[in-house]
Amino acid sequence: MPNKIKLVLVSCCAPCSSGAIKQLADGGVPGIDDFVVLFYNPNIFPNDEYIKRMNEQIRYCEELGVKYAVGEWDHDAWKKAVAGLETEPERGKRCDACFAYRFAYARDFALQHGYNAVASVLGVSKHKDQSQVDTAAKRTLGNIEYIPIMWDENLRQSINRASNFYRQNYCGCEFSFRKKPEPVILGIKSCETETGTL
Ligand code: SF4
Repeated sequence: MPNKIKLVLVSCCAPCSSGAIKQLADGGVPGIDDFVVLFYNPNIFPNDEYIKRMNEQIRYCEELGVKYAVGEWDHDAWKKAVAGLETEPERGKRCDACFAYRFAYARDFALQHGYNAVASVLGVSKHKDQSQVDTAAKRTLGNIEYIPIMWDENLRQSINRASNFYRQNYCGCEFSFRKKPEPVILGIKSCETETGTL
């Protein structure tokens, strides 16, 4: 572990990162000397959804007065990185490649800007598998330290309850859209009316 930890916090959206950013801003994670929130999410589709999530992230960081950086939305390049894995389920191999793609950017960002550690909130959602995120990070970050911080979930939930964050209902990519459940037809009854039977 480096003596002075300068941390890049990889974030996917405001609702997942709210508690983590507050903890870091309040000095609630011992040993972190400096941090920046990195919003790099070329996985998010379509672009207007990406803009909504990005704007919420920026608004929250500015509210707390913390540093942030936004990477480019290179969705076509991201799609190439997950090519062949489109039909994988959420938490499957496509997500391995997606996490690795974003951690690779975080690694390069850290090296270029003088940071020496990375943490993330990519495993915070109940739909995610934290161990999958940790494995992708460790495999990808090379000489940059990965710090698997367990964030305060109660704090995150209480901030989110009190906030008016935009909240999405799918992970991010076009392959993760959640289908609305089909209506279940339990039975058909004829209905007598004044003009006949419907
Ligand atoms: S479901 Fe989420 S983590 Fe998985 S590939 Fe899509 S955007 Fe990435």
